[in-house]
Amino acid sequence: MSDYRAPIKDALFTLRHVGEIDELSKTERYAHADYETVASVLEEQGRFMQEVFGPLNHSGDVEGLKLSDGVVTTPKGFKEAYAKFVDAGWQGLNAEEEFGGAGFPEAVFTLALEFMTAANGALTMCPGLTTGAIECLQAWGTEEQNEVYLRKLVTGEWTGTMNLTEPQAGSDVGLCTTKAEPQGDGTYKISGTKIFISFGEHDMADNIVHLVLARIPGSPPGTKGISLFLVPKFMVNGDGTLGERNDVFCLSIEHKMGIHASPTAVLSYGDNGGAVGYLVGEEGQGMRAMFTMMNSARLAVGIQGVAIGDAAYQKALEYSQERRQGKEIGSASHEPAFIIQHPDVRRMLMTMRSQIDAMRALIVYNAAAIDFSRSHGDETEREQWREIAELLTPVTKAWCTDVGMEVTSLAVQVFGGMGYIEESGVAQHFRDMRIAPIYEGTNGIQAMDLVGRKLPMRMGGVVNDHFARMRVTAAELASSTELKALEAPLTAGIDVLEEATKWIFEHGLGDPKEALAGATPYLEMFGVVTGGWLSARMALAAQGEIDAASSDVDYLKARIASAAFFIEQLVPRAAGNLASVTAGSAGLYEIDAANLASR
Ligand SMILES: Cc1cc2nc3c(=O)[nH]c(=O)nc-3n(C[C@H](O)[C@H](O)[C@H](O)COP(=O)(O)OP(=O)(O)OC[C@H]3O[C@@H](n4cnc5c(N)ncnc54)[C@H](O)[C@@H]3O)c2cc1C
Repeated sequence: MSDYRAPIKDALFTLRHVGEIDELSKTERYAHADYETVASVLEEQGRFMQEVFGPLNHSGDVEGLKLSDGVVTTPKGFKEAYAKFVDAGWQGLNAEEEFGGAGFPEAVFTLALEFMTAANGALTMCPGLTTGAIECLQAWGTEEQNEVYLRKLVTGEWTGTMNLTEPQAGSDVGLCTTKAEPQGDGTYKISGTKIFISFGEHDMADNIVHLVLARIPGSPPGTKGISLFLVPKFMVNGDGTLGERNDVFCLSIEHKMGIHASPTAVLSYGDNGGAVGYLVGEEGQGMRAMFTMMNSARLAVGIQGVAIGDAAYQKALEYSQERRQGKEIGSASHEPAFIIQHPDVRRMLMTMRSQIDAMRALIVYNAAAIDFSRSHGDETEREQWREIAELLTPVTKAWCTDVGMEVTSLAVQVFGGMGYIEESGVAQHFRDMRIAPIYEGTNGIQAMDLVGRKLPMRMGGVVNDHFARMRVTAAELASSTELKALEAPLTAGIDVLEEATKWIFEHGLGDPKEALAGATPYLEMFGVVTGGWLSARMALAAQGEIDAASSDVDYLKARIASAAFFIEQLVPRAAGNLASVTAGSAGLYEIDAANLASR
């Protein structure tokens, strides 16, 4: 049985006030995505996930996967649930209408993906990766590739994978050695080994479309020499029917800490003469094409933070109202109190809830920036939104997954000893969450991307515009009678973030190692302050609705309380990181590698 409930009301509130769905639906591209329409789509999708994906989350974790003769069998019920997902047409929610999709904005899709992931993170890895493959082919596929493969991916009949990692090429994709030899007929023979390929083999779809990074002989070393290829599991005949098996096989699947129901495959290409591959985009442009997929996937991984965090929070909240221990402080009652009455448990619950609200806001804002960059009528605006999306993508991926770890860990803590016991279900969320800070570019790599690539955008102009937008909101708080008190902690957070940014600009130019040494604490500051800013926007919106005589005052006051908690009690964490950023590499290399072990 699934106890997950899709937080529709919170999702719609965020979509309206942070995702600006009303503005978005004024654009030609998203004219069909008005608030009422997307609200009913999300309600329906949330219900589907609760009823179809959710009940298989725990059983899938316990049962796991089977591999026999290269065939992966997914846990009981997965195949049927996936078939229902395909029948309902959920895969194509944000795919372009031209290819059979529903063409909804990314901001809407991110919320749908949150519900899916929260209901069943392991199963959702499959459609999640298919979405990445769809985005990649929409941008780079040839007309023929799109007719034959993209349409089948959009319906979900076939699924997609992303093949970057090799034993010697993890974060350093440039070390990829998989070979692609031109055959003179427009095709390539692919040979090599890819590891850790999510849903690289499974029994839920008739065909799998692998997108594979490989090197054409004679191409330059490093990432410049890498191209992207489409390699189907089964060849496709001229009439669209499936033909021979292509030369790609699953050698093994990994035994993992979490997401037990998501096959993580070692794939061998070309053991029998070479797998047939088709070039996607241009030769040597593989990383550019793969980045289309990776940016979508980074957002999707960020969503795992809020989704799995929320699933864990819901369990913790329920348990805290069932479990009795200790006396309520100040109460005359001799009865043991529900643990939710204790201040320390309240602190854990508020920390979880306010972070979930802030993470969701960041993700929806990041996704809406992508939507506006595609749909706004004004070119300058489109460019500005594109810059915002670029700036925030590493923050969304890394901050939301780190916070997701904190939230799931707190949920285990609320359960006490029962949290450590598998039957409670909350331990699974903690284990499932742990991969998210690692894959799709580790969080360390995201922090380096933020500092090394994103801060220098437009000579610092992009990040300074971000600070200016946050200060506008701080000024709005200052002139609000009810929310005035939130201005000072938000402004203090922005000040300290600007100070750290200035330090990075001043010291990073001379010695990048100094700037990169503090990249992770810097990203944490960036995330918490940006989360505080978006929380402030939601508090202002909630207050606005109260002032406009909304009948939903209790709900709106709860939203303000959550935002206030985040701004007053969590944004100050940013100041604690300043010393780590401005220390540069001081202290990091004092003990040489040999002596790190001698204690
Ligand atoms: C369950 C699971 C599913 C996965 N799914 C896929 C998939 O579908 N497709 C796919 O292609 N891959 C997939 N991966 C692979 C995943 O993306 C990689 O594990 C990840 O990119 C990290 O690479 P690595 O494991 O080789 O770690 P390494 O690159 O060896 O990193 C080890 C540590 O060193 C740090 N580090 C490395 N380089 C630097 C640097 N230059 N500067 C600072 N720090 C650095 C890292 O941050 C990390 O902390 C999956 C992995 C797992 C475990």
